[in-house]
Amino acid sequence: MLTEITKAQLLSWRLGVLKNEGKATPQQISLAKRNNVKMALDVARESRQILGAMGVVGDYPIMRHMMNLESVITYEGTHDIHLLITGQDITGISGF
Ligand SMILES: Cc1cc2nc3c(=O)[nH]c(=O)nc-3n(C[C@H](O)[C@H](O)[C@H](O)COP(=O)(O)OP(=O)(O)OC[C@H]3O[C@@H](n4cnc5c(N)ncnc54)[C@H](O)[C@@H]3O)c2cc1C
Repeated sequence: MLTEITKAQLLSWRLGVLKNEGKATPQQISLAKRNNVKMALDVARESRQILGAMGVVGDYPIMRHMMNLESVITYEGTHDIHLLITGQDITGISGF
């Protein structure tokens, strides 16, 4: 979890630098959004799993984070649509 979160933070940091320089492309933003939200959701699901049944009760906040991330993976461009954007960017072929 720590490794994946650190990698996602580095991706966001690099994108922020490019954005500040006016060089960030929509396709790069798609790649970062897709990767980082999926990573966060995977981490939340793994955390929920570690807690077993306690992971689904209100005593722990992880289920709330997980449900929030289920929304985030849909809005601001779904996981699938960002994949199509990324694919088109590297192949020049539209899969839409
Ligand atoms: C919590 C929340 C807040 C939101 N806030 C806003 C907001 O403030 N403003 C706003 O305008 N919208 C908002 N939305 C809407 C959001 O942008 C849409 O839900 C999102 O764009 C997906 O559209 P849809 O729900 O119509 O799904 P659909 O387009 O019906 O897609 C359904 C599924 O099919 C997949 N899919 C669709 N087309 C393709 C394709 N060509 N190839 C492969 N897979 C495909 C999608 O990835 C998705 O998994 C919000 C949504 C949520 C959940």
